[in-house]
Amino acid sequence: MATSTTDEASGKVVIKNIGLLLSGDIDQPILQADTIVILDGLITAVGRFKDLDTESAKTVIDARQTCVGPGLIDSHVHPVFGDWTPRQNQIGWIDSTMNGGVTTMVSAGEVHLPGRPKDIVGLKALAITAQRAFSNFRPGGVKVIAGAPIIEKGMTEHDFQELAAAGVTLLGEVGLGSVKAGYEAKEMVAWARKYGIQSTIHTGGPSVPGSSLIDKDVVLEADAAAKAAMDLKCPHRVILGTDGPAGSGVQPLGMLRMIALLSSLANIPAELVFCFATGNTARIRKLNCGLIEVGRAADLVFLDRAQGTSGRTLLESVQLGDIPGVGMVMIDGLVRCGRSRNTPPATEVPVVEH
Ligand SMILES: [Zn+2]
Repeated sequence: MATSTTDEASGKVVIKNIGLLLSGDIDQPILQADTIVILDGLITAVGRFKDLDTESAKTVIDARQTCVGPGLIDSHVHPVFGDWTPRQNQIGWIDSTMNGGVTTMVSAGEVHLPGRPKDIVGLKALAITAQRAFSNFRPGGVKVIAGAPIIEKGMTEHDFQELAAAGVTLLGEVGLGSVKAGYEAKEMVAWARKYGIQSTIHTGGPSVPGSSLIDKDVVLEADAAAKAAMDLKCPHRVILGTDGPAGSGVQPLGMLRMIALLSSLANIPAELVFCFATGNTARIRKLNCGLIEVGRAADLVFLDRAQGTSGRTLLESVQLGDIPGVGMVMIDGLVRCGRSRNTPPATEVPVVEH
C-alpha cells in the first residue's frame, strides 16, 4: 500500500487508444492525441499512435477510449506522518484519496499532530522532519509535499532562512498559530517569500471547533468566486484543495466532487475545471506534474462517465454534477490502482495488455 521513492523505474510505457486527452493546460484543455509514451516515469511523447515510436514497451495500456488526464493535485491538505490522520484516527486516508484520482498533495501545515510543538525550535524541527519523512515515503505512491510550519510570534528572518536552507518550501496556513494580525503575518510572510517559501492563508470562520455551517450559501459563494475568476479573465489563478482530512471527515473524492460542483453550479466547462485541479496548481506550486507534456511526470488519472450517470459523455456528466468513475491511477509511470474502490464504477476501464 505504501512505498518509498526508491521504487523501480517504470521503463517504457505506452498508453494507447485514449478517447479524450485532457491536458491540464487552461489555454488548451483538450489535446488531439490518442497516445502517450513514457520512459522511466516521465512523458516522452504525446500524439497519434501511428506517428510515435511505440515499439518494445515494457508496459502497454489500452485506455479503451476512456479519458486520460493529469493526476489531480490537492493543493491544501493536513498530513501528519505516514498514512495516518489523528484528526479522524484513521489510517489509509492518502491511499483512499489516490483512489479518488489524486496523485500529489500539498501540505498547509502538519497541524493535527497531537502535542504539536509551538516553540520556535520545535516547530522548525517538525517542519523539517515532515518534509524529510514524506520525501522518503509515499502512501499509495502519492507525492506529499509536506513540511509547512505554522508561524508563531517571535520568529525572526533567520528562522525562515534556516527553514529554506533545510528544504522547507511552504508555510502552514497563516492564522492557525499565534500570528494572526495582518501586520505581523505580513512581515513573516515577506521573510518567507524572500527565501522562496510559499504561503497560504486561512479565510472564513474557524474550521474546528465551532465550525460554521456549510450550507448552500457556502457552495454558492465558492461558485461565485470561480465565476468571478472567469469573468475577470484570470481562470489560470484558480486552484483547488480539500483541507482534508478535516473535522468534517476524510473525503477521498473531495477533489472530484469539487470539480463536478464547480462545473455544474458555476457552469464552467468541465475540461477547464480539471485544469483548476491540475495544470494551474502545478504552475503556481512549481511542480513537475499536472500537465500532459513532454518532460513532465507521468502522473495520470484514467476516467470515464460513471455507470448510470446522466450525460452521454464524461465531460457532459461532470457538467451535470456527477462524479466521474476512476478506472486507473498512474504515478511516475507506475500503475497504482485499477478500477477505483471509492468512485462510482467507471463505465469502461483501461486494460494493461502486458
Ligand atoms: Zn487547512
